Amino acid sequence: MKTSNKLIAAMSAVTGVLVIVTLVLMFTIGPWKKAEKKSEDMRSPRKTQETEVEDTDVSGEEPKEQSRGSALISGSEWVSPDKDPSEDPTDETPDMTSEDPTSETTEPTTDETTEESTEATTEETTEATNEETTAEPTPVPETSKETEETKAPSNSGGSYDLSGMVIVIDPGHQSHANSNEEQVAPWTDETKPCVSAGTTGVATGRPEYEVVLEIGLRMRDVLESMGATVIMTRTTNDVNITNIERAEVAVSNNADVFLRLHCDASDSSSARGIGVFVCSRGSLSDYVVTWGDWLGSCLSESTGSKYRGCDASTRYSGLNWACEVPSFLLEMGFMSNADDDYLLSDPDYQQKICNGVAAFCAKMKNR
Ligand SMILES: [Zn+2]
Repeated sequence: MKTSNKLIAAMSAVTGVLVIVTLVLMFTIGPWKKAEKKSEDMRSPRKTQETEVEDTDVSGEEPKEQSRGSALISGSEWVSPDKDPSEDPTDETPDMTSEDPTSETTEPTTDETTEESTEATTEETTEATNEETTAEPTPVPETSKETEETKAPSNSGGSYDLSGMVIVIDPGHQSHANSNEEQVAPWTDETKPCVSAGTTGVATGRPEYEVVLEIGLRMRDVLESMGATVIMTRTTNDVNITNIERAEVAVSNNADVFLRLHCDASDSSSARGIGVFVCSRGSLSDYVVTWGDWLGSCLSESTGSKYRGCDASTRYSGLNWACEVPSFLLEMGFMSNADDDYLLSDPDYQQKICNGVAAFCAKMKNR
């Protein structure tokens, strides 16, 4: 009995120790583990938030390497805020288009072109604009560039398919002015002289009517060689054709393009460059300024001269009477500027003018 009592006492002691140890462990390790789990739970939602913030940054402004990867994986889900992703077939382009600078560069160009067109009326303003134009790349509108690249090879000496086009060329003026009066437009009783004298080159001494006919005949040959039907209002200098009669040639032949060739003159001998004038009335008035800008840009591209802009008005009787066909008065350069004056009589430069007009006619055909 003594031995069994001792054994029981010993077992009770061991059990007691075990119970104490268990209790101690329960109260110390248990809460610590819980605390650890709780802190993990608190961390994980914050992680998710961080990821979302990064994603937002990506679609917003600055794409980061990692985010770009996920954007490419998700494919159609990633849409740049202001651009259609279908424009960007390659892996690299999404970065380019998501950046604002792209759209920024396009917008100012358009703005300045518009400014030029509207400001081209006075000498001083236009001269100032010309300075700006030199710094600018090319004033060709984005859409027209595409058309040229896809439908026409080059602006400088390239050949175009102008078959089916009727182009009427009117070399301005004639050897003797006609001071009789004629109606300025079908919608007014106002009159002005039938044909003015034109200007004279400060350096060459050549009369405008002679230079514009020379260029006109070359232009006819160039456009005909590309398949166009070309009708001249005159092929000699000693004629007497009023501005209304010239316009009627374009109207009666239903011209696809009516080009009135002139050279400019200014009191300021430094004024240079190419100008386009169109009629602001008629059923084509919504389009002719755009087309006029095409003409000016094509010529600027082929000659390297500055394009001063397109001006729409009802000042020119030859345009007013032909406002139902695409009509353009083209000032090819200033005979009051010695450099322009020499260029206008230079066969190479004349050829460049004709190439620019050919490029323009191709654009008009494919518009
Ligand atoms: Zn003229």
